[in-house]
Parts: sequence; structure tokens; C-alpha cells
Amino acid sequence: MRPPILFPLYAPIGSLKGVGERIAPLLEKLAGPIVRDVLFLKPHSLIRRRKTTVVEALEGEVETLLIEIDGYIKPRGPQQPWRIKAFDGTGTVDLIFFGAYAGQLEAKHPVGAKRWVSGKVERYGLTLQMSHPDYMVLPEKVDDIPDVETVYPATAGLPARTVRKFVQESLSRAPDLPEWLDPAWKAREALPGWKEALVSLHTPQFEHDLTEQTPQLRRLAYDELLAHQLAMAQRKVAQRRSPSAKIPASTLADQVEAALPFRLTGAQVRALSEVRGDLQSGERMSRLLQGDVGSGKTVVAMLAMADVAASGGQSAMMAPTEILARQHFETLASPLAAQGVKAVLLTGRDKGAARVEKLAALAAGTVQVAVGTHALFQNDVVFHALRLAVVDEQHRFGVAERQRLQAKGEAVHLLAMSATPIPRTLELTLYGDLDVSRIDEKPPGRTPVVTRAVPMTRVGEVESRLRQVVQEGAQAFWICPLVSDSELVDLKAAETRAAELRTQIGSGVGLVHGKMSGPEKDAVMADFADGKIQILVATTVVEVGVNVPNATIMVIEQAERFGLAQLHQLRGRVGRGRRESACILLYDPPLSETAQKRLDILRRTDDGFKIAETDLELRGGGDSLGLKQSGFPAYVFANPIAHRDLILTAGDDARLILARDPELTSPRGQALRVLQEVFDWRPGTVLKDAG
Ligand code: ADP
Ligand code: MG
Repeated sequence: MRPPILFPLYAPIGSLKGVGERIAPLLEKLAGPIVRDVLFLKPHSLIRRRKTTVVEALEGEVETLLIEIDGYIKPRGPQQPWRIKAFDGTGTVDLIFFGAYAGQLEAKHPVGAKRWVSGKVERYGLTLQMSHPDYMVLPEKVDDIPDVETVYPATAGLPARTVRKFVQESLSRAPDLPEWLDPAWKAREALPGWKEALVSLHTPQFEHDLTEQTPQLRRLAYDELLAHQLAMAQRKVAQRRSPSAKIPASTLADQVEAALPFRLTGAQVRALSEVRGDLQSGERMSRLLQGDVGSGKTVVAMLAMADVAASGGQSAMMAPTEILARQHFETLASPLAAQGVKAVLLTGRDKGAARVEKLAALAAGTVQVAVGTHALFQNDVVFHALRLAVVDEQHRFGVAERQRLQAKGEAVHLLAMSATPIPRTLELTLYGDLDVSRIDEKPPGRTPVVTRAVPMTRVGEVESRLRQVVQEGAQAFWICPLVSDSELVDLKAAETRAAELRTQIGSGVGLVHGKMSGPEKDAVMADFADGKIQILVATTVVEVGVNVPNATIMVIEQAERFGLAQLHQLRGRVGRGRRESACILLYDPPLSETAQKRLDILRRTDDGFKIAETDLELRGGGDSLGLKQSGFPAYVFANPIAHRDLILTAGDDARLILARDPELTSPRGQALRVLQEVFDWRPGTVLKDAG
């Protein structure tokens, strides 16, 4: 139940003065549907309106002047403005007005009248002028002109100044809320109270009051992060509490492992034992396996599935595309079958009798492992005893989809897998409700990928070198980025590139792009994997996990446009066999210093976690990590980069709070419930973006 103290914040924006049927949709687009959303609009800049005289007015500055009107000059042509000649004791200034209505100004501001005007001062030849003053008021109304004006985001039909009025009204309605912060920490960090922070946020005096590290913004960011961390921690506790089948480590899995043509890496051993710890605990597992493409996640999942099979249960492994599902199936099926564990592949392609047969086997429990796509969680798929759901590239699935799969059994253990390396702090934000195992070591025997940055001016050399290696039997990816606003333009660029490569190199050039359907993409990808195509040109990121060992060249056009993590993932698609591989980063010169440094990191290391961490340091902002794509929460106040330190503290704080007061019943606990409502981060809502 929402506490009554919050009712004013949850009132619809229509309840704000001046928000009628015309404004409401605009304001909702800008902020959101309720008063709280308007209150939470962050100002982006401020205007200082200095009161001064004409002689001291500075060109380019916003000034406030008390002037007397001297006369009106009509426009000389239809494109010309009205000019109001004005002066004060120190000099003259022209007020400029375009548009037909300007003719009516004289009635309101007659010759001889005194007015306060405020706006940007410009110089036109020798004349000082102010075009369309922001304010033009009677001398006694001087207080209508703020000294400092906070500027908010605006939209067509809803100017920033109107938005400011709404924000101010929301602020006047904001209640005082009970303090939810630990008093000692709050004092140490010198943070203001919640309401106080909002007041400061909306009444900045100087530019630096608008930066990320002001006490007010840190306070609000912390509140937001704490609400989120708390909700995730609660969810984690709740999940742990749901009892789940105990699955012991098995000799069956040991036999599967022993029969592998390689030994597990240390990181794989560690991850497997963490997974096994969860499976044996009797509590439901929610674990994320993070590791670069090719780090050996699938093998770890396979051994866990063998444990499940040994204890009489079934597992399902779900991948976002058919080709990935098929590759997983090929990896798993025979090592498992050798120990008597049966696996089936279930995708959208299965139809008719074959599909019926597979479904029957799953329902009867004669098959212990199902590998597949979205086809796995369709309504008619029934498991005999589903105990473990493995979700590969988990961010590619909606929460509802994962849940539909998990709902096909009782308290099904979840093992999510992700190949997107992210720094620890961000890990907490994205996966606070999961336990994380990292595979930060590559299987031995891989030849490192030679990485080179090459200016676009030398693309011809790259193409002729490519022709050579293709003739020698190699395969290559050629990535064209999505850069323009129009996908069609990007597609055109990729088509042109593919055509050019065809004339240079011959027939075996394929093209995949975002406008193709899933099956169409899959078909081209499959041709590439089967070696029917030698060069694969792609506008969109090639499926992350696709394994084409014969592909040894990765060319990335306009590499400077990509996030580092993305470049790293793309590069991860080559260098999977024993042959020497290369990654060519084509860039449009000249490179900025930061861009240069970023591309350099890739040359220096192959460790995805290190790359992600460095990228974070270097960029310090923006969405270089592709956070939005990975389901990163859209925070209002918190900036995951600027407020990294707060993320860590909020995570610790949340765990401590729940350890002491699991039901949030203490006075602080009650206040924290209010906090969760304020930010909509109740345990149930974590789902919306938990990845
Ligand atoms: P991921 O799922 O992390 O992308 P996979 O589990 O698919 O990685 O492994 C990639 C490739 O490496 C597979 O061909 C797999 O057989 C192989 N592999 C996995 N673990 C090892 C290991 N410890 N030593 C050698 N090769 C391995
Ligand atoms: Mg994989």
C-alpha cells in the first residue's frame, strides 16, 4: 500500500495548475504521468539575469535593463522586424520583434513608458539590441524577473519556462519525508535531507550547482541507487528462500568432464564449483556466468546439466537465435550422449511429427536436456521434471520469457550466461539480484588476435590483403556500423561495401542486416558457418556467440564509433581456432586523443573485464558500454559512472539493512519503504530491468 504521505507526489500531472488537455501529453512525454516525475526533472542549465545599465551591458550576456520607450520603427519589408527604440540614462538599445503581432506591442508598451526588459544582448553594427526579450514588464513588476532562472528540458509547444513553473509547483507540493539514510553516514558525507536536496536541485545559483557531485545530487542519486539495490537484495533473499531440489555433484558429470578432449581452466573449475554449491544448497539458484565469448561457459553449463540428469531431473538451455541454439546443441549432445544423457534440439523450425515426438519425449522424461530457442517456453512444451534453466545471452530475453521457461517446473534453478564484460560496480547495478561467477581466463592454445588500427584511406590495401587470405581458404567478417539516423542509409553503405567486395574478391560475399527476418539472418549465418560464404558483411552486430573457427579476419569499419566492449566482443569472434587471426579497426582520420587511447587498449589486452574497466575510466560518461542495450536501468539522478562510489555503498547498505531488518519493520525500515515507493523500486518491479 502506498503511504498517504506520498499521495501529492502520485497525483496526475493534470492536477498541476495550467496543465490542461493540451499541455498534459507534452509534459507527460517530457517527465512522466505524475507530479513526482515533474519534481524529478533535472535542470540542465541556468540563466543569470544581471540587472545593469545599457552602457555596461555585455554583448552575448543575458541582461536585465530598466528602459524607457522612445519610439517604434515599422518593418521596411515583410522579412524585417519591428524595432522599438529605447534608452536609459546611459545609452540606447533597440528591442527587436519579428512577426505580425509586433504591431500590437505599442498599445501595451506605449512611447514614454518605462519597462524592465530582460534577454540576450547583441550588437548589430553600432547598435546594441535585444531580440525578443524574455521579459518585458512594468517597473513595479520587477520581481517577475528572476535573477537566476533554472532551465529545464523543453519540447515543441512546451517551453522551458513553462516547465519551470510546473516544477516549482511540484516542489511546493513535495512532502517532508522521514529520513531513511543512516544518520552517521549522512553526516559524514554532509548530505542534505531529501526535500532539502530537491529544493537545492531546483534553485541552482551557479553552473557548478548543476554538476554530478553536488551534495544535493549525490543525495538524490544515492536515494535512487539505494532503492534499487534494496529491491534487488530483497528479491535475492526471497528467491533463496524458495526451496529447490538439492542436486548433488555426480560421477556422471565427472565422466562427461573426463571424456572432454581438454581440461577445464581454473576459472571454469571455480565457476562450476560455485554453481554446484548453489545446486546442492536446497535454495533456488540465481546465478550469472559472465565470461568472454569462447571462455567456456557452455561447457560449465553442460556439466551442471549432467548433475541434474544424474539426479533424475531435466534441464533446458535457451539461446536467442536458432544458430546459437544449434551450436550449443552440437557442443553438448555427444559428450552427454556418451554418458547416456539424451538431449534434443527444439527451435521454431521443428514442425509436425518430429516436433510432436520431441515434445512427447520431454513430457515423458526420456530426454534429459532440451536445447533451443523461444520455442522452449511455448505453451505446449511440457517437461517431466525441469530443474535447471540455462539462459544464454540472457539480456536478449525479456524477463517474462525467462520466467515462462522457469515456470515449466517447480522452483527451477536459473543459470544465466552473458558474454558482455562489465566492470564490477556496474555489475552490481545490473545484476544485484543474481550471484555472479566470472570466467576470466581463456582456454589455452588460442593464438592471440593481432589487432591493428588502420585509417580508412588505406581500405584498398585491406581489401587486397583480404582477397589473398580468402584465396588461401580463410573467412572474414566485415562489420559496417549503424551510424546515420536512417537505417536505410546504413544499409545502403553496407550493400555498397558488399558489392565492392564481390567485385574485388568474387562470389562468396554474404550480407546480414537488421532489416532481415530472424530466419533470413540465420540462413546467411549458417552459410557462413558452413563455409559456403567466405566474407560476411554485417550492419548489425553479428550474433555474439556464433562460433566459426575458420573465420580469422574481423574488419570493423568506423571502429571509433563503437563502444570498446562491443569491439572486444566482435573481435572475440575470430581467433577461435589455432590459426593466426587478425582484427582490423578501420577509422576515419584524424582520431581524437581519447579515441586513439581507446583503440590502443584493444591492442594491449584481450581481457574483456580489463577493457570494460578502462573504457569506463576513459570515457567517463555516455553510453560507451552499450549499457542501455544490456538492460541498464534508466536512472533519473544516478549516473553509473560519476556515482560509482555510491553504487558500491548502496549495495553494502542494502545488504546490511536486510540482514538487520529483513521485513523493514523498524522505523528506518518503514522510511525505506517510503523510499522504494518514491522511486518505484519495489521488489516486484526489479523485474522490469534486472537484465
Ligand atoms: P562460451 O560459451 O563461453 O562462448 P564455449 O563453452 O562455447 O564458450 O567454448 C568455446 C570453445 O572452447 C568450444 O569449442 C569449447 O569446446 C572450447 N573449450 C571450452 N573450455 C575449454 C578448455 N578448458 N580448454 C580448451 N578448450 C575449451
Ligand atoms: Mg557461448
